[in-house]
Amino acid sequence: MLREVKTTCCYCGVGCGVLATTDGERIHAVRGDPDHPANHGKLCSKGSTLHLTMGLSGRAQYPMQRRNRGEALERAQWGNTLDGLAARFAATIEQHGPDSVAFYISGQLLTEDYYVFNKLAKGLIGTNNIDTNSRLCMSSAVTGYKQTLGADAPPACYDDIDDAGCLFIAGSNTAWAHPVLFRRIEAARAARPDMKLIVVDPRRTATAEAADLFLQILPGTDVALFNGMLHLMLWEGLVDHTYIAAHTEGFAELKNALRDYTPASVAECCGISVVDLAQAAKWFATGASEGAPTLSLYCQGLNQSSSGTAKNAALINLHLATGQIGKRGAGPFSLTGQPNAMGGREVGGMANLLPGHREVANAGHRAEVARLWGVDALPAAPGKTAVEMFDALLRGRIKLIWIACTNPAQSMPDQRLVREALARAELVVLQETCSNTETAAYADVLLPAAGWAEKEGTVTNSERRITRLHRAVTAPGEARADWQIVVDFAERLEARLAPGRPTLFPYQTPEQIFDEHRTTTKGRDLDISGLSYGLLDAAGPQQWPFPAGANEGRARLYEDGIFPTADGRARFVVTQHRGVAEPADARYPFRLNTGRLRDQWHAMSRTGTVAQLFGHVPEPAIGLHPSDLARRGLASGDLVEVASRRGKIVVAAMAADDVRPGQAFLPMHWGSRFLGGRGNAGVNALTLPAFDPHSKQPELKHAAVKITSANLSWRLVAFAFADATGAVGHAGAAAATGAVGHAGTAAATQAPDAVTLIDTLAPLGAQFAFALTVPFGRERPGVLLRLADNQAPDAATLARIDALLGLDAGAVMRYDDPRRGIGRRVAVVDGKITAVRLSGAAPDLAAESWLKAWLEQGEPTVGLGRMVLSPSSAPPAHYVPRGTIVCNCCNVAASEIDGSLMQLCGTDAARLAGLQSKLRCGTECGSCLPELRRRVAAVQPAQAAA
Ligand code: SF4
Repeated sequence: MLREVKTTCCYCGVGCGVLATTDGERIHAVRGDPDHPANHGKLCSKGSTLHLTMGLSGRAQYPMQRRNRGEALERAQWGNTLDGLAARFAATIEQHGPDSVAFYISGQLLTEDYYVFNKLAKGLIGTNNIDTNSRLCMSSAVTGYKQTLGADAPPACYDDIDDAGCLFIAGSNTAWAHPVLFRRIEAARAARPDMKLIVVDPRRTATAEAADLFLQILPGTDVALFNGMLHLMLWEGLVDHTYIAAHTEGFAELKNALRDYTPASVAECCGISVVDLAQAAKWFATGASEGAPTLSLYCQGLNQSSSGTAKNAALINLHLATGQIGKRGAGPFSLTGQPNAMGGREVGGMANLLPGHREVANAGHRAEVARLWGVDALPAAPGKTAVEMFDALLRGRIKLIWIACTNPAQSMPDQRLVREALARAELVVLQETCSNTETAAYADVLLPAAGWAEKEGTVTNSERRITRLHRAVTAPGEARADWQIVVDFAERLEARLAPGRPTLFPYQTPEQIFDEHRTTTKGRDLDISGLSYGLLDAAGPQQWPFPAGANEGRARLYEDGIFPTADGRARFVVTQHRGVAEPADARYPFRLNTGRLRDQWHAMSRTGTVAQLFGHVPEPAIGLHPSDLARRGLASGDLVEVASRRGKIVVAAMAADDVRPGQAFLPMHWGSRFLGGRGNAGVNALTLPAFDPHSKQPELKHAAVKITSANLSWRLVAFAFADATGAVGHAGAAAATGAVGHAGTAAATQAPDAVTLIDTLAPLGAQFAFALTVPFGRERPGVLLRLADNQAPDAATLARIDALLGLDAGAVMRYDDPRRGIGRRVAVVDGKITAVRLSGAAPDLAAESWLKAWLEQGEPTVGLGRMVLSPSSAPPAHYVPRGTIVCNCCNVAASEIDGSLMQLCGTDAARLAGLQSKLRCGTECGSCLPELRRRVAAVQPAQAAA
């Protein structure tokens, strides 16, 4: 019988409530939870496809071990594996001390998982070497809050969007990275057209397109901008001296430091006009009208920076100086990148933290937690943060590393260092839902973890709201909940490290862990001693603080003007513009920015399994200003080599007028699993490990690179429906090619699918200078393979590719010119194309432009005749390929939208409504609405154009 189970989306920090329709074995559908305050029933394109991510291909289902590095993982037993790990950890700790081991965990873990990991490291082992991928995400927001407001607590809430007079979005492409929140922004602006939207970003993003005022600053100049705005506010008498006097400290020092930030110098530094700078200062200080509130929303553009803390503090200075905090519609509000980064910090699951927002560096805090946990003492030595941890691993100071629910071989900066560290480690334990991530290739032990909808616990979203997640289905194979894996290991380890002592891990259920966690928060700023699983079930998600005796949580903080500092006053912080860690120069003249795509999330281990999520952006490409392309004699689609001081990748170039000349943009999602090739370590081969001195968050958003033509003369493109490849034993094929195969026996019985085919093809790509494997399609997914090199591979390699793609048997049309290295193969089943391989020089592949669409759309081959093997880019007469999918929910392509817009007249709003009525695009999740609006403005009716 079908039922709906309450959970949340496992992607971004908006924390949307999800109702999963399940029969207990399978999730049939998802919809937004109408009762959840974060989303009121809405989901974006990622959340609304969650049920499509539950396939078993690439799924870790059984414990696996590698006898030796380089050998395949083999199935193991839980008991033996954990016994072995406990013995290995105990021996290493005994011989080299507790700091010889480390845990690198994740903002995707549930709070209960996080809690026991932290207790294992700090309470049992006695090391602070536990850090998380949240270090790459929100650390600078945290240090910014702590330095100014006194606590790691976003003071505003989503409801404040409805009341803001001015929205100030800095370093956040909210429209793509937090789409459901952007829907709320759109609704608030529609309800109150006088609301002003200011967007600050080096790139003209979809969010920037919607702005009333867009400040396209130069990378790394945010501090100068904020200081310049405050300078102007002082000059214009726009600061709130009454608020400053009553509730803050340090304004006089800051005022002195602001003298140098004159409008002219700031405008020049940031690359904007003085007029725009002045407008931003006025709107920020006064909103749409005198005294209207201003709400700031910000994300990785401020955080992923070597000046991340200063950027955050400088922005909060603006709120304090104008009194735009502690009231409806006002305040600084960091948008969390991950679903539970905040929950992880609540339990202290980072190298510098302890439970209940306590600090490792504070002896009193250590003593409090030691007392709560019933241990003698907690370690005082600072733990290694993310970048430091992999550096210590490389140097042999950390010998064993346990990685959980994250993919550092994709997501950490400076992949050469990280991968070398993983290769040198004495032991890499990976606790994961997937067996095919980049990091899995380095795992000596793979522990299968339950994933989304397969376990229960709690998470906290960006607005401090805790939601209880229920289990909808049983995890496959022998996968276990993360907290359970940790507890099973910890019990074995404590039998060796502390025999005879009462266990620190007496948990049978996640609820017991939550109950212990809430006691650690009692009396702290995030006090949730009044919360329980029962209350969360009965009353729904709640914001903290929620102390015992409270009836509800607190929507916004500091309404009384009292801050959690020693004297109750907020602190102005003197911040100075320092620029980026690696400026562009003559050798590396481009400034590379990284960021998010609309329909992908982080390292794509989950969204990358859903072919339809590739409809919007099907392949990786580096965006360059058209003038930069022209200057280098490049065109969109040309392969370029992008090199930084740390590594290089080969990727297609793309004309992008959303970046300024001299700048480049690459989505952060593309790791080596999709964007392969010889020695290619993905986008983060290019980024640098320089980090902010306070938050230790690395500067993932800026690197100096050079971009040159890749000059690869031989090309191959192949595409095939996965189910038509006859991929007999893809799992076996994967093992044969050295791919990290599926865990256990289940894989051998799976029908061929895109994930399996990608994992089979990807290792082949390692012998080419450039390789790309991505899924495409919707109901019938396929895989696209691109290869390029200086010369054609041997015939055996081509034959292997043909065999894997179903191009070696049955009705396959062929054309070969071995002298010129040209080969064409087209497989036809029941009168329709199922697979294609084109190879040779770039012009020999020109027919891809229509053949792939022909295959995807299931067009018949009747009448095509010899065109099938023609190199011509000209499609058959009257045939129009659909092109990029703009609306993923309703499967509406750009060509269809533009075609309809040519027929629609009236105001922009009327034409958008007409478009939606005709094609239904933008009527479901709404993630495509910003792009639809852009197209409405750009594509004029035929008669108007005439
Ligand atoms: Fe998930 Fe989208 Fe909601 Fe973020 S905005 S939590 S990705 S549904």
